[in-house]
Amino acid sequence: MTVHLHEEDLPEGALGPGPIAVDTETMGLITPRDRLCLVQLSDGGDDEHLVRFSPGSDYAAPNLKAVLGDPNRVKLYHFARFDLAAVEYYLGIMAEPVFCTKIASKLVRTYTDRHGLKDIVRELLGKEISKQQQSSDWGAPELSNAQLEYAASDVRYLHGLQEILAVRLARENRTELAQACFDFLPARARLDIAGWPDHDIFSHLSA
Ligand code: MN
Repeated sequence: MTVHLHEEDLPEGALGPGPIAVDTETMGLITPRDRLCLVQLSDGGDDEHLVRFSPGSDYAAPNLKAVLGDPNRVKLYHFARFDLAAVEYYLGIMAEPVFCTKIASKLVRTYTDRHGLKDIVRELLGKEISKQQQSSDWGAPELSNAQLEYAASDVRYLHGLQEILAVRLARENRTELAQACFDFLPARARLDIAGWPDHDIFSHLSA
């Protein structure tokens, strides 16, 4: 298990074929204000790849963009809505097609309201991950080992989760509904950026 840190782009051929787990770390929750600092990737193998962007980066990253923009590669996320918005805003790529473990969890684990990554990794895979570094300075010139480990652990288990959640979705006859939700997520992310972050346009309320 190795965590690889790369500057400004992914090396060519770093990832094997198939679905790719993706997560991002930013300076905060307001995408246009809070720059994209790190993109984490896993092909489901033993290694994680972290791509770091410096302040003032031009976000050129051709190899990373090729992977994220590949329409034949499903991208696995936990809370895709946020990562899709950050990736599109800074890299100019809508990183679809999407499988979101948080949406899948909400559609099948209706017996709980705990849909955080830590909770579902514990319940479905029996592993413990720490969220201690979640709110840390991802723009720092040197990332700490704790930050790198945290960032890598956010993509490490997404393939395992997807496998189990796909079985549960099928069992509960919600695979199609889940897919429809995943397919809508790029539009949901665009609404966030375009000025409807908290507004449910499907609600009957006019405000
Ligand atoms: Mn993360």
